[in-house]
Amino acid sequence: MNEKSNLRTPIVSVMGHVDHGKTTLLDKIRGTTITSGEAGAITQHIGATEVPIDLISKKCGDSNLANKFIVPGLLFIDTPGHHAFTSLRSRGGALADLVIVIVDINEGFMPQTKESLEILKRFKTPFVVVANKMDRIHGWNPTQDAPFSATYQNQSQRVKDILDQKVYEIVGELYEAGFNSNRYDRVTDFQRNIGVVPISASTGEGIPDLLMVLMGLAQKFLESDLSYDADGPGVGTVLEVKEEKGLGATIDLILYDGKLRKGDTIVIGSSGEPIKTKVRALLKPNYLSEIRTEDKFRQVNEVTAATGVKVSAPDLENVLAGSPIRAATGDVDRVVDEVKKELEDIKISTENTGLTIKADTIGSLEALANELAEEEIPIRKAEVGDISQRDIIEVSAIEDQYYSVIIGFNVKVLPDAKEKAQFSDIKLFVNDVIYKLIDDYKEWVEEKKA
Ligand code: GDP
Ligand code: MG
Repeated sequence: MNEKSNLRTPIVSVMGHVDHGKTTLLDKIRGTTITSGEAGAITQHIGATEVPIDLISKKCGDSNLANKFIVPGLLFIDTPGHHAFTSLRSRGGALADLVIVIVDINEGFMPQTKESLEILKRFKTPFVVVANKMDRIHGWNPTQDAPFSATYQNQSQRVKDILDQKVYEIVGELYEAGFNSNRYDRVTDFQRNIGVVPISASTGEGIPDLLMVLMGLAQKFLESDLSYDADGPGVGTVLEVKEEKGLGATIDLILYDGKLRKGDTIVIGSSGEPIKTKVRALLKPNYLSEIRTEDKFRQVNEVTAATGVKVSAPDLENVLAGSPIRAATGDVDRVVDEVKKELEDIKISTENTGLTIKADTIGSLEALANELAEEEIPIRKAEVGDISQRDIIEVSAIEDQYYSVIIGFNVKVLPDAKEKAQFSDIKLFVNDVIYKLIDDYKEWVEEKKA
C-alpha cells in the first residue's frame, strides 16, 4: 500500500442563503454517476455521496490528477445548510472538513451568506465560494458540464464583462466580511485568499473547477487532519435517528475515523448517560432492487472512514441527532468517558437570568447560543428538545418581562405547551433560521420598550 491508504476522504458540506442553489448543486454532483459499478462512478452512501478522484480526473480532463493529489476523493454530506454544518460535530470541531459557500451571482450576499461566513470564521473551516447561476446572465451560451475556462471563452465580450463585474462584487462583499478573495484561477496562495468559482449548478459548468479547488484545499489544509487509522475502532457522528419498517429505530451516521463492524459494541452520546449497545446490522443503500421497499438497504459486514452508513441496533430510540458515536473494541468504560468528554467540549455558558433556548441538536443549540452571545443577550437555560409544558411552567416563574421568553431553533412546540403558553405572558419565538430568531426577539424587545 502507498501513503494514500493513510488519508481518508475529506467531508464536504454546502452552506448558503435559501434558494441560492445548495440542493441543485448536490443533485448535480450526485447526477454525475457514469453507470453504477463502472470505474470512476460516484458511490451513494447513507446521507452522503462520494466522488472518487478518478471521476474528478475524468471531469477535469486531467488523467494525471491521482498522481498530483493524495486525497482519494470527496465525500459530500447530502443535507445542506448551516444548520446541518453546526449540528454535525466531530471532537468539538465541525464534522465537515471543507465547505462550499454558495452565492447566487445575480443576488449577491444575503443574510444567511453572512451567517455562514461568521460560523466558518468561528470554526476556522477552510472554504470556497461559488458564484452560482452564471447561466442566468442574459445572453449566456451554455456548454453542459464544461470547465469554467472553456465556457468562459465561448461567451460574448458583454457576457464576460457582466460575469467579471459580478464576481468582483462578490469579492468586495467577502472583503467587507473580513476575507481576501479573488476568482479562483487568479489565486496563488489559497491560505491567504479565498477562491471564488463561477458555476452553474443547473448546467454543470464550472463544477470540474470547483472539485479541483476542493481537492487542492484538502491537500493544503487538511493533510494532517485526514490521516486516520483504517483498522482502529470506528468514530463518527449521528446524522439522524430514523424509524425503518421491520428494523425499528435506526441511526444514520457519518464515520470519520477507523472501522465499524457488525457485532461491535458502540457507545453513543445522549442527554443523560451515554447509550451502550451492539451493532445488529450495517446497512448501505441498495440500488439493485428499488422496487420493494424492504430491500431499500443491503447489509455489509464492515465499513471504513469516511463513509455514511445506517446502523440497526437495540436501544436507539433516544439517540439525539448530532451525537458522537464510538466503537468500543477494548475497555468500554474508557470509551464511555471519551464520549462524555466529547459532549462536554460543546459548552454553552449560562447566567442566572436570561433567555431559555431550545434546539434540536447539541450542535445547533451551541450555534444559537454563540449568536446570542455575539449580541450580548444572556441565556438562563439551554436544552435539546421540543418546547414542553415543563418549559412553560419554569419560564412562568421569571419576573423580568424581557426574559419571559423561550427561543426554539428547529424544534416543535408540543400541544400542551402551546395551550399553556396561550394563557400565560410567555413569548415564544420558533424558527429554523437563527438570524430570524434573533432579529425577531430584538424587534420585540424594542417594541416593548417603546
Ligand atoms: P437551495 O434553497 O439553496 O437548496 O436552492 P435550490 O437548489 O432549491 O435552488 C433554488 C432555485 O434556483 C431552484 O428553482 C433551482 O432550479 C434554481 N437554480 C439553482 N441553481 C441554478 C443554476 O445554476 N442556474 C439556474 N438557472 N437556476 C438554478
Ligand atoms: Mg435546498
